[in-house]
Amino acid sequence: MITWEEITDLQPIASRTIINSINKGRVSHAYLLQGERGTGKRDIALLLAKYLFCLHREGANPCHTCNNCKRIDSGNHPDLHWIEPDGQSIKIEQVRNLQKEFTYSGMESNQKVYVIQDADTLTVNAANRLLKFLEEPSKQTTAIMLTENGHSILSTIRSRCQIIELQPLPPDVMNQRLQDEGVHHLEANLLSALTNNTKEALSLHQDEWFAGARKIVVQLIEMYVQKPEDVYLFIHQQWIPHFKERTEQQMGLDLLLLGFQDILHQHIKEDTTTVLLPKEDAKMERAMMSFSKEQLLFILQLILTAKRKLKQNVQPTLVMEQLALQIQR
Ligand SMILES: [Zn+2]
Repeated sequence: MITWEEITDLQPIASRTIINSINKGRVSHAYLLQGERGTGKRDIALLLAKYLFCLHREGANPCHTCNNCKRIDSGNHPDLHWIEPDGQSIKIEQVRNLQKEFTYSGMESNQKVYVIQDADTLTVNAANRLLKFLEEPSKQTTAIMLTENGHSILSTIRSRCQIIELQPLPPDVMNQRLQDEGVHHLEANLLSALTNNTKEALSLHQDEWFAGARKIVVQLIEMYVQKPEDVYLFIHQQWIPHFKERTEQQMGLDLLLLGFQDILHQHIKEDTTTVLLPKEDAKMERAMMSFSKEQLLFILQLILTAKRKLKQNVQPTLVMEQLALQIQR
């Protein structure tokens, strides 16, 4: 159960904006919350919804104990609707169904709230349909849209929403939180370089697949240093079978990026901390001798390009084969 105090810790500007509008009795009829993964979009949407439905609120705070608050916590409030992508996108059918539900007055009161998750995945038709809905705001209907890519949202929709920008958690804050949860500080460095979401970081920390992924990435980098001729085989025997899903493949490339960055950072400044590769190690020495700064910068570019190709749905095995060959050159 999240409170405004907790949100204010992470998102001071956003929460002040929302609390102010609540205090002035000017809750907007549509919000667009935009920010990276882990910046608290969902928590803010839930808290705002709770405030709107709560029977015993105090100031901007819902009570968290009334019937309405409880039903929101358990995902069972009849006048709060969550829309999520159906597969890759949010389809016009989903918006139509929402509108149908909303033509009846609220099940219990006139207050209605809908939350659209990943609002950037609305198809053009769905977005246009939604636009009509936003153009005729009813006093007691509140739309809360959540997105990681605010700029992929139609400007006509954006212009009808109050836009709330959420800031990513600073890495040192994240790092400290993980250490408070018992994560070793070196491990915390790596996890906070990979994600902005404390929960996700903690689950990676306990994930066997992730432990295996790290090992493979470190081995691959060592192989580039010691036996580049075996890399191609290693990719097929170890990498491809381990990194199966798209998100896993992206994670693999993120780790590889961090590993090569470690070598580059050691080149530039010896006292920087590394996040993936052990620092005081003969292997690091050898890695620094094998790659010049210029080569490392080039390799980082290649990995970023490979990440983009994966996003564009290029066949993952092909992406990795090309990357392997390009890095060797
Ligand atoms: Zn309540």
